Amino acid sequence: MADNQLNAMEDILRKQRAAHTQMRPEPIAMRRNRIERAMKLLKEHGEDLCKTMAADFGNRSPHQSMITDIAGTVGFGKYCIKHLDKWSRTQRRSVQFPLGLLGAKAEVRYEPKGVIGILSPWNFPVNLSFGPLMQVFAAGNRAMIKPSEFTEKTSMLTKELIEEYFTPDECAVFTGGPDVAQAFSSLPFDHLVFTGSTATGAKVMEAAAKNLVPVTLELGGKSPVFMGESADFAAAGERVALGKMLNAGQICLAPDYMYVPESKQDEAISGVTQGAEAMYPTVLANEDYASVVTDRHFDRLQSMVADAKGKGAEVIEVNPGNEDFSNTNARKMPLTILKNVTEDMQAMQEEIFGPVLPVKTYRSMDEAIDYVNENDRPLGLYYFGADKAEQEHVLTRTISGGVTVNDVIFHVSMEDLPFGGVGPSGMGSYHGIEGFREFSHARSVYTQPKIDVAKLGGFKPPYGAATVKAVKGLMK
Ligand code: NAD
Repeated sequence: MADNQLNAMEDILRKQRAAHTQMRPEPIAMRRNRIERAMKLLKEHGEDLCKTMAADFGNRSPHQSMITDIAGTVGFGKYCIKHLDKWSRTQRRSVQFPLGLLGAKAEVRYEPKGVIGILSPWNFPVNLSFGPLMQVFAAGNRAMIKPSEFTEKTSMLTKELIEEYFTPDECAVFTGGPDVAQAFSSLPFDHLVFTGSTATGAKVMEAAAKNLVPVTLELGGKSPVFMGESADFAAAGERVALGKMLNAGQICLAPDYMYVPESKQDEAISGVTQGAEAMYPTVLANEDYASVVTDRHFDRLQSMVADAKGKGAEVIEVNPGNEDFSNTNARKMPLTILKNVTEDMQAMQEEIFGPVLPVKTYRSMDEAIDYVNENDRPLGLYYFGADKAEQEHVLTRTISGGVTVNDVIFHVSMEDLPFGGVGPSGMGSYHGIEGFREFSHARSVYTQPKIDVAKLGGFKPPYGAATVKAVKGLMK
């Protein structure tokens, strides 16, 4: 990476921090104004952005992009504006008896951190840059964004648009490959929010640690589906198919694999197959169905299926239109179900991130629970069934970032719920009041009364009877 690129990033960081410091305390109206401008940008250029995302992917339905990247993000901006006053209100806290009676006061002020870096991936390039941005602004910060190099056209357009709607000391975009990303993650931000893979997340955290920059890591993982005996397999199958095929499975929260009762395997698979066929009667000639983002990602998925087949899995390709995929460079891949999977298969070792669905069977639900607990803590976890006791058993015996019951992925779209992972699937969260707090500094302010509290409490030398009495009182 050219030195002048690093210099440009360092220069903007300095300018943003100087502007932030100089303008404090900035009125809440300014935060609202920045969120409104971000929403305006998305409304005015949503269609361009959707076309550009389609060009980056090869094929990605503008309808889908409008829902997942534009309208959903505008909605989140609206939610932030609605809650801004309440979130940013100073909170009174209690003081120990009898300090309150003596006039002592304690409060928490949620203050902006300063300049926040946003490192985003390619799978929802607008949502995962502008979503965090809305809450970074809500908390009164400024932002520098480094979008993904895999959706290069969208990243370039994002840069142009941000330059049109914001001054560089409010928000700036830097494009480029992993070298730029690496330099970006080494900058001494006041906070860094990264969305991407677990492996890159570890590198980002290491780079941030050099400057003790706090991080929010929104990572991935293998999010399991638990299907209980009591599940409605047709409805559940359709929901799993929708979640697995949206964006061609390139979703951090996509149901990664499915655990079904041994005796219900065929019924469960038929539910998924029928759901997929009803939504996508064709795949190749279907604008609703997204391409895999690059040849490299496509080849990885193909070799994952070949690896499973070679190691004994049964491969079911859901290809209702009987289309020929062999002579196309569209990078479209039909839903591919893998039966009889084993742990040595690549598909069971890494996050799939594509339309491949391994199916595992259990005799007792505890087998499935134990399996999930033996592996990395997932980002999402899904339970299907009508058995509330079993549902609670699954929920209370496992750990995951979030949960959707009787569907997949949907918890992320609840604006008021914190979204984030746990352990290898991430740390920290945004959305909800938690996101506002993630990008704020909770500053404690204690006001001492006139009376000499230190003397009264026996903390003031010379130590003596008052000290002994105070210690006794505290230990009682
Ligand atoms: P990635 O980790 O390859 O890339 C993400 C970003 O990191 C890109 O902007 C890239 O330029 C940058 N990067 C690459 N190398 C870097 C380095 N050495 N140092 C610093 N930054 C670097 O992820 P991806 O392939 O773009 O996205 C897919 C992954 O993201 C999946 O694992 C998925 O589960 C995860 N994801 C998570 C969420 C979430 O909200 N939890 C959302 C979407 C995707």
